[in-house]
Amino acid sequence: MSSREPQSSSETVNVSLGTAGLLGLQEVAQDALPTAAYLMVGGRCLRDCAFCAQARTSQARADALSRIVWPPHDLDLTITRLREAREAGRLRRCCLQVTTAPGYLAQAERVLRRIRQASDIPLSVSAHARSLQDVRRLLDAGADRLGLALDAATPEVALAAKGPGWAQALDLLESAARAYPGRVSTHLIAGLGEQEREMVRLFQRLAEQGITIGLFAFTPVPGTALERRQPPALASYRRLQAARHLIQLGLVRAADMRFGEDGAIAHLGGAPSALRQALADGQAFRTSGCPDCNRPYYNERPGGVMYNYPRPLHPAEIAEAIALALAAPARDVSQGERLG
Ligand code: SF4
Repeated sequence: MSSREPQSSSETVNVSLGTAGLLGLQEVAQDALPTAAYLMVGGRCLRDCAFCAQARTSQARADALSRIVWPPHDLDLTITRLREAREAGRLRRCCLQVTTAPGYLAQAERVLRRIRQASDIPLSVSAHARSLQDVRRLLDAGADRLGLALDAATPEVALAAKGPGWAQALDLLESAARAYPGRVSTHLIAGLGEQEREMVRLFQRLAEQGITIGLFAFTPVPGTALERRQPPALASYRRLQAARHLIQLGLVRAADMRFGEDGAIAHLGGAPSALRQALADGQAFRTSGCPDCNRPYYNERPGGVMYNYPRPLHPAEIAEAIALALAAPARDVSQGERLG
């Protein structure tokens, strides 16, 4: 420990393994470095989302979130390393994940203030807010962006995976976006039982309000209620990634798209050549969300099927992803239904 590093305050924060490696808090072999630092506070959650390792009844590791391990590290040391990595240009954002445990909001405010006092790093916080007042507290504590996770695409899917409250969460998300334009993100998980059509309809609604969408692929985590559920089909996820990207860029509207009887995207609503050109840089298939959020291996294993690329895609990967996204599941697109 160098002379500049602070005396340990023994308060700890959970640090994603990749982030701990980047900050030099522990040795971690990794082929895709995080461009944002991912920290977590709160501990076991009072809520009980069926897909989440931190859920109240989850039997998953206490230091897991999605398939990632978040070992505890000294808060002061972590913040010092974060400031140094920011100054060295190795980090472009910090994201504080907050589980809904007793006193979570006050704890989140305290940690956000500590980070803000130490560094000008762009700061996101992903937490459960109950009101606009909660939203204001988190932003006043130093966050420049707030993530209010909807997770599910419909009230019915949410009820099965998370319990009641989806409509209120959407309402607060939209109110926060009106009150703090350009500073609000949400998380949506593909593969919880929704139809692609339902996800696309929500993409359009959120995009029209300037809400940034962080798209996740459902990932079965051992010890959670959904540990036996399969991840979404890659082709379906590629279609959704393309739809989200094209809608958020305003290049197509959900109403222009066509859907098969099963609600799968049959046509992305543009001329194939124009769609190929719009997707040619591969950006659509990279991790989406706040600027500089790349969440390496949040939904996939190294060397496994890549849902969200945490880095620029190689040309062959782009070609493969576009082929999957544009391969219409329905044979005759003209028969595909439009958005109801
Ligand atoms: S999109 Fe990324 S940076 Fe933003 S709240 Fe979600 S995990 Fe954090």
